Amino acid sequence: MVFSLPLNPESARQEMVAQQLRQRGILDPRVLRALRAIPRERFVAEPLHKHAYEDRALPIECGQTISQPYIVGLMSQALQLSGQEDVLEIGTGSGYQTAILSQLAARVTSIERHEPLSRRAAHILRILGCENVQLEVGDGTQGCSANTPFDRIIVTAATQEVPPDLWEQLAEGGILVIPLGGPSQQELFEIRKINGRQQRAMLCKCRFVPLVDEESERDEE
Ligand code: SAH
Repeated sequence: MVFSLPLNPESARQEMVAQQLRQRGILDPRVLRALRAIPRERFVAEPLHKHAYEDRALPIECGQTISQPYIVGLMSQALQLSGQEDVLEIGTGSGYQTAILSQLAARVTSIERHEPLSRRAAHILRILGCENVQLEVGDGTQGCSANTPFDRIIVTAATQEVPPDLWEQLAEGGILVIPLGGPSQQELFEIRKINGRQQRAMLCKCRFVPLVDEESERDEE
Protein backbone atom coordinates (compact mmCIF):
# COMPACT_ATOMS: atom_id res chain seq x y z
CA MET A 1 0.00 0.00 0.00
CA VAL A 2 1.23 3.51 -0.81
CA PHE A 3 0.83 6.13 1.89
CA SER A 4 1.00 9.69 0.68
CA LEU A 5 2.13 12.02 3.41
CA PRO A 6 1.05 15.66 3.21
CA LEU A 7 4.11 17.60 2.11
CA ASN A 8 5.00 21.06 3.30
CA PRO A 9 4.62 23.67 0.53
CA GLU A 10 8.36 23.91 -0.07
CA SER A 11 8.87 20.19 -0.67
CA ALA A 12 5.63 20.10 -2.68
CA ARG A 13 7.11 22.79 -4.96
CA GLN A 14 10.39 20.88 -5.33
CA GLU A 15 8.44 17.79 -6.28
CA MET A 16 6.20 19.73 -8.69
CA VAL A 17 9.26 21.12 -10.47
CA ALA A 18 10.95 17.72 -10.67
CA GLN A 19 7.91 15.67 -11.75
CA GLN A 20 5.67 18.02 -13.70
CA LEU A 21 8.21 20.38 -15.29
CA ARG A 22 11.74 18.96 -15.64
CA GLN A 23 10.52 15.58 -16.77
CA ARG A 24 8.43 17.24 -19.48
CA GLY A 25 11.20 19.38 -20.88
CA ILE A 26 10.96 22.64 -18.93
CA LEU A 27 14.69 23.09 -18.32
CA ASP A 28 15.32 26.86 -18.30
CA PRO A 29 17.03 27.25 -14.88
CA ARG A 30 15.56 30.72 -14.27
CA VAL A 31 12.03 29.46 -14.95
CA LEU A 32 12.52 26.46 -12.64
CA ARG A 33 13.94 28.71 -9.91
CA ALA A 34 10.90 31.01 -10.16
CA LEU A 35 8.47 28.09 -9.96
CA ARG A 36 10.35 26.76 -6.93
CA ALA A 37 10.19 30.18 -5.25
CA ILE A 38 6.57 31.33 -5.71
CA PRO A 39 4.00 29.80 -3.31
CA ARG A 40 1.15 28.70 -5.62
CA GLU A 41 -1.20 28.01 -2.69
CA ARG A 42 -1.37 31.75 -1.98
CA PHE A 43 -3.16 32.30 -5.29
CA VAL A 44 -6.10 29.93 -4.63
CA ALA A 45 -8.86 29.93 -1.99
CA GLU A 46 -8.05 28.22 1.27
CA PRO A 47 -10.06 24.99 0.68
CA LEU A 48 -7.93 24.43 -2.45
CA HIS A 49 -4.55 24.87 -0.72
CA LYS A 50 -4.11 21.12 -0.48
CA HIS A 51 -4.47 20.84 -4.26
CA ALA A 52 -2.14 23.75 -5.09
CA TYR A 53 0.74 21.59 -6.35
CA GLU A 54 -1.31 19.10 -8.32
CA ASP A 55 -0.83 18.70 -12.04
CA ARG A 56 -3.91 20.68 -13.08
CA ALA A 57 -5.68 24.00 -13.41
CA LEU A 58 -7.82 25.04 -10.43
CA PRO A 59 -10.90 27.28 -10.17
CA ILE A 60 -10.52 30.88 -8.97
CA GLU A 61 -13.14 33.61 -8.49
CA CYS A 62 -15.34 35.01 -11.32
CA GLY A 63 -15.59 31.58 -13.01
CA GLN A 64 -11.93 31.70 -14.15
CA THR A 65 -8.98 29.32 -13.60
CA ILE A 66 -5.37 29.40 -12.46
CA SER A 67 -3.35 27.61 -15.15
CA GLN A 68 -1.75 24.20 -14.65
CA PRO A 69 1.87 24.57 -13.36
CA TYR A 70 3.26 22.83 -16.48
CA ILE A 71 1.52 25.34 -18.77
CA VAL A 72 2.84 28.25 -16.68
CA GLY A 73 6.35 26.77 -17.00
CA LEU A 74 5.96 26.14 -20.72
CA MET A 75 4.67 29.65 -21.49
CA SER A 76 7.34 31.26 -19.30
CA GLN A 77 10.11 29.25 -20.98
CA ALA A 78 8.75 30.08 -24.46
CA LEU A 79 9.09 33.80 -23.68
CA GLN A 80 12.89 33.33 -23.44
CA LEU A 81 13.36 35.99 -20.80
CA SER A 82 16.83 37.16 -19.75
CA GLY A 83 15.72 39.63 -17.08
CA GLN A 84 15.91 42.81 -19.22
CA GLU A 85 12.50 42.65 -20.86
CA ASP A 86 9.33 44.67 -20.64
CA VAL A 87 6.44 42.16 -20.62
CA LEU A 88 2.71 42.61 -21.21
CA GLU A 89 0.39 39.92 -19.83
CA ILE A 90 -3.29 39.69 -20.78
CA GLY A 91 -5.40 37.85 -18.18
CA THR A 92 -3.96 38.45 -14.69
CA GLY A 93 -6.46 35.99 -13.17
CA SER A 94 -5.03 34.82 -9.84
CA GLY A 95 -1.74 36.65 -10.45
CA TYR A 96 0.33 33.44 -10.26
CA GLN A 97 1.75 33.69 -13.79
CA THR A 98 2.32 37.42 -13.12
CA ALA A 99 4.39 36.59 -10.02
CA ILE A 100 6.49 34.10 -12.00
CA LEU A 101 7.06 36.71 -14.75
CA SER A 102 8.06 39.30 -12.17
CA GLN A 103 11.00 37.03 -11.24
CA LEU A 104 12.06 36.64 -14.87
CA ALA A 105 11.65 40.08 -16.50
CA ALA A 106 12.51 43.71 -15.79
CA ARG A 107 8.92 44.94 -15.78
CA VAL A 108 5.48 43.33 -16.09
CA THR A 109 2.22 45.06 -17.02
CA SER A 110 -0.78 42.77 -16.54
CA ILE A 111 -4.38 43.47 -17.60
CA GLU A 112 -7.49 41.72 -16.23
CA ARG A 113 -11.13 42.42 -17.12
CA HIS A 114 -12.52 41.29 -13.72
CA GLU A 115 -11.79 43.93 -11.11
CA PRO A 116 -12.13 41.57 -8.06
CA LEU A 117 -9.48 39.26 -9.51
CA SER A 118 -7.11 42.14 -10.17
CA ARG A 119 -7.63 43.49 -6.65
CA ARG A 120 -6.93 40.09 -5.05
CA ALA A 121 -3.87 39.55 -7.24
CA ALA A 122 -2.54 43.02 -6.32
CA HIS A 123 -2.83 42.16 -2.63
CA ILE A 124 -0.86 38.90 -2.90
CA LEU A 125 1.76 40.34 -5.24
CA ARG A 126 2.34 43.15 -2.76
CA ILE A 127 2.77 40.68 0.12
CA LEU A 128 5.25 38.67 -1.97
CA GLY A 129 7.23 41.82 -2.78
CA CYS A 130 6.73 41.72 -6.56
CA GLU A 131 7.48 45.40 -7.08
CA ASN A 132 8.13 45.43 -10.82
CA VAL A 133 4.47 44.64 -11.62
CA GLN A 134 1.78 47.05 -12.74
CA LEU A 135 -1.83 45.77 -12.78
CA GLU A 136 -4.61 47.27 -14.86
CA VAL A 137 -8.33 46.54 -15.18
CA GLY A 138 -9.84 46.59 -18.67
CA ASP A 139 -10.08 44.89 -22.04
CA GLY A 140 -6.63 43.47 -22.70
CA THR A 141 -7.34 42.77 -26.37
CA GLN A 142 -6.54 46.45 -26.88
CA GLY A 143 -3.23 46.04 -25.05
CA CYS A 144 -1.70 48.92 -23.16
CA SER A 145 -0.79 51.95 -25.22
CA ALA A 146 1.34 53.44 -22.40
CA ASN A 147 4.53 51.35 -22.35
CA THR A 148 4.79 50.22 -25.97
CA PRO A 149 6.44 48.46 -27.60
CA PHE A 150 6.69 45.37 -25.38
CA ASP A 151 9.57 42.91 -25.78
CA ARG A 152 7.25 40.04 -24.88
CA ILE A 153 3.48 39.56 -24.72
CA ILE A 154 1.73 36.61 -23.06
CA VAL A 155 -2.01 35.97 -23.38
CA THR A 156 -3.46 33.50 -20.87
CA ALA A 157 -6.94 33.25 -22.42
CA ALA A 158 -7.91 31.75 -25.77
CA THR A 159 -8.91 33.49 -28.98
CA GLN A 160 -9.23 32.60 -32.69
CA GLU A 161 -6.78 35.17 -34.03
CA VAL A 162 -3.96 37.30 -32.68
CA PRO A 163 -5.60 40.60 -31.57
CA PRO A 164 -4.25 43.26 -33.98
CA ASP A 165 -3.56 45.85 -31.25
CA LEU A 166 -1.39 43.34 -29.36
CA TRP A 167 0.57 42.50 -32.51
CA GLU A 168 1.16 46.19 -33.11
CA GLN A 169 2.42 46.67 -29.55
CA LEU A 170 4.98 43.84 -29.84
CA ALA A 171 8.55 44.99 -30.57
CA GLU A 172 10.34 43.78 -33.70
CA GLY A 173 12.16 40.56 -32.76
CA GLY A 174 9.78 40.15 -29.81
CA ILE A 175 7.84 37.03 -28.82
CA LEU A 176 4.10 36.58 -28.31
CA VAL A 177 2.85 33.44 -26.52
CA ILE A 178 -0.86 32.82 -27.05
CA PRO A 179 -3.44 29.99 -27.18
CA LEU A 180 -5.33 30.10 -30.49
CA GLY A 181 -8.50 28.18 -31.35
CA GLY A 182 -12.14 27.61 -30.45
CA PRO A 183 -13.73 27.26 -27.01
CA SER A 184 -13.19 23.52 -26.52
CA GLN A 185 -9.64 23.13 -27.77
CA GLN A 186 -6.76 25.34 -28.76
CA GLU A 187 -3.10 25.20 -29.66
CA LEU A 188 -0.47 27.14 -27.78
CA PHE A 189 1.78 29.20 -30.08
CA GLU A 190 5.10 30.96 -29.69
CA ILE A 191 5.04 33.70 -32.34
CA ARG A 192 8.12 35.74 -33.20
CA LYS A 193 7.85 39.11 -34.95
CA ILE A 194 10.37 39.02 -37.80
CA ASN A 195 10.27 42.00 -40.20
CA GLY A 196 6.72 42.60 -39.00
CA ARG A 197 5.66 39.05 -39.95
CA GLN A 198 4.51 36.16 -37.77
CA GLN A 199 6.91 33.24 -37.41
CA ARG A 200 4.91 30.59 -35.58
CA ALA A 201 5.90 27.52 -33.56
CA MET A 202 3.16 25.31 -32.10
CA LEU A 203 3.99 24.21 -28.56
CA CYS A 204 1.11 21.93 -27.55
CA LYS A 205 -2.63 21.42 -27.51
CA CYS A 206 -4.23 23.21 -24.61
CA ARG A 207 -7.47 24.45 -23.08
CA PHE A 208 -7.85 27.98 -21.73
CA VAL A 209 -10.85 30.10 -20.73
CA PRO A 210 -11.92 32.46 -23.56
CA LEU A 211 -10.42 35.88 -24.17
CA VAL A 212 -13.49 38.12 -23.97
CA ASP A 213 -13.30 41.28 -26.04
CA GLU A 214 -15.77 44.16 -26.04
CA GLU A 215 -17.80 42.64 -28.87
CA SER A 216 -18.25 39.20 -27.26
CA GLU A 217 -18.98 40.97 -23.98
CA ARG A 218 -21.97 42.71 -25.60
CA ASP A 219 -23.15 39.31 -26.88
CA GLU A 220 -23.02 37.96 -23.31
CA GLU A 221 -25.43 40.63 -22.04
N1 SAH B 1 -2.61 33.52 -15.76
C1 SAH B 1 -3.82 33.36 -15.01
C2 SAH B 1 -4.87 32.72 -15.89
C3 SAH B 1 -6.22 33.22 -15.58
S1 SAH B 1 -7.45 32.64 -16.70
C4 SAH B 1 -3.57 32.50 -13.78
O1 SAH B 1 -2.72 31.60 -13.85
O2 SAH B 1 -4.24 32.69 -12.77
C5 SAH B 1 -7.49 33.96 -17.90
C6 SAH B 1 -7.89 35.31 -17.39
O3 SAH B 1 -8.06 36.15 -18.53
C7 SAH B 1 -9.22 35.35 -16.64
O4 SAH B 1 -9.02 35.87 -15.38
C8 SAH B 1 -10.11 36.25 -17.51
O5 SAH B 1 -10.98 37.06 -16.76
C9 SAH B 1 -9.07 37.09 -18.23
N2 SAH B 1 -9.54 37.70 -19.47
C10 SAH B 1 -10.34 37.19 -20.44
N3 SAH B 1 -10.53 38.07 -21.44
C11 SAH B 1 -9.82 39.20 -21.09
C12 SAH B 1 -9.61 40.46 -21.70
N4 SAH B 1 -10.16 40.78 -22.88
N5 SAH B 1 -8.84 41.35 -21.07
C13 SAH B 1 -8.27 41.08 -19.87
N6 SAH B 1 -8.44 39.90 -19.24
C14 SAH B 1 -9.19 38.97 -19.83
